[in-house]
Amino acid sequence: MDTQIRHRLVLILPPFQGHLTPMLHLATILHSKGFSITIASHDNFNSPNPSNHPNFSFLPLFYGLSETQISSKNFVDITVTLNTKCVSPLKELLVDQIEKANTSHEKIACVIYDGLMYSIDSVARELKLPSIVLRTTSATNFLTYHAFLQRQSRGCLPLQDCMSLDMVPELEPLGFKDLQPLRFKDLPMFNSHVMQQQITKTLAIRPSLGVICNTVNCLEDKSLCRLHDLYEISVFPIGPLHMMAEEDSTSSSCVEEDYSCIGWLNNQATKSVLYVSLGSIASWDEKELTEVAWGLANSKQKFLWVIRPGTINDVSEWLESLPKEVKMAIEERGCIVKWAPQREVLAHQGVGGFWSHCGWNSTLESLCEGVPIMCQPYFGDQRVNARLLSHVWKVGLEWSNVIERNEIEGTVRRLMVNEEGKEMAQRAFKLKNEIRLAVKAGSSYDALNGLVKRILSLNL
Ligand code: UDP
Repeated sequence: MDTQIRHRLVLILPPFQGHLTPMLHLATILHSKGFSITIASHDNFNSPNPSNHPNFSFLPLFYGLSETQISSKNFVDITVTLNTKCVSPLKELLVDQIEKANTSHEKIACVIYDGLMYSIDSVARELKLPSIVLRTTSATNFLTYHAFLQRQSRGCLPLQDCMSLDMVPELEPLGFKDLQPLRFKDLPMFNSHVMQQQITKTLAIRPSLGVICNTVNCLEDKSLCRLHDLYEISVFPIGPLHMMAEEDSTSSSCVEEDYSCIGWLNNQATKSVLYVSLGSIASWDEKELTEVAWGLANSKQKFLWVIRPGTINDVSEWLESLPKEVKMAIEERGCIVKWAPQREVLAHQGVGGFWSHCGWNSTLESLCEGVPIMCQPYFGDQRVNARLLSHVWKVGLEWSNVIERNEIEGTVRRLMVNEEGKEMAQRAFKLKNEIRLAVKAGSSYDALNGLVKRILSLNL
């Protein structure tokens, strides 16, 4: 009889596309290292399809979100509710899992949760379960939280004008001196009391096994060094997670992907297409969409444009209402879909640029394929990422962000036609190769092996 104890990991998914995708990739990576995987996820809001992940066990977790909250898309409000309402159902779920493991030669080796879900820290501690936090934003973004706390403790809040071009003094010693430090304008907006409380809470988490960062040394070595100094716990930069899990071709998308755009891309010239997408939360209103349509049409470039359902009431009606010349340009040079298989799109040879909101997943996915970015950050970490893209790695275009047709036409041409864009594409190509090396046999590969050893060492 096989008496060897199997190690099971319980991963808790938050119901946001940009957070659950990296967590599922992490699950795939750790499964390939021999761990059994249980995923606890919300059962009726942004939950992945279990049949896409036959190697994992799925358990529903009650998060207590109301329909109104779900449709409000109020990220901060939803996160507060997740943290207050998930505690007791999660405790029950984990106790049940511990009991089941005891009767089946298994051990719950670790609970892994997203840094958004700070309240899980105390649950793991109470149940004496080892824990790991996954940080799904850049390490540099995480450092801005520390800067926020430092300023708060010195009474320097609220952060001055959020459009100020002054450098943030707390971030200057963070290794950016030679690389243009972050300005107040680049910080996430910590502008509500609730948000400030959340930052304080997420920074207070002390998971017993350490922190996983979805990043890679060659992109953020200085910020990672600083994080190592600030934390008394281990930091494992094992990203980009989607590349580390590359053998996994299953989709973690909450929305059905429209593959017809790949057929359309197959008929386009190499690097001729601009891919336009603002991720799963940010959006343009109808007036802005019309300016974008005009700008894209006038740029004379090919484009693949994601307009998510719910962005406006009726996309076909809006398209119909556009002037004839714009409609014709869209027909001749454009392809519009509701949701694209983004990683395949960015890997396609037809794509030469990405107009992005600079979410961290989109940023990493673009960097991994060597695609330069036209940066249009909205909120949260997107402004930090845009600054890294444009001023540190120099593969992103900073522009006015004014949604006006002439401005858009000019900026699209800067990226897709001008020398400036070509130089960015060359740097992006170099960076892509460095990242791939780190994943195959470099820093991320080593950090993953270190993480696996750490989980096993506490569970012998
Ligand atoms: N995405 C996709 N198809 C689309 C738009 C987005 O698959 O049409 C995916 C994208 O690949 C990324 C995620 O949605 O993995 C968006 O995450 P990100 O962190 O970039 O932004 P967020 O949605 O969290 O703002």
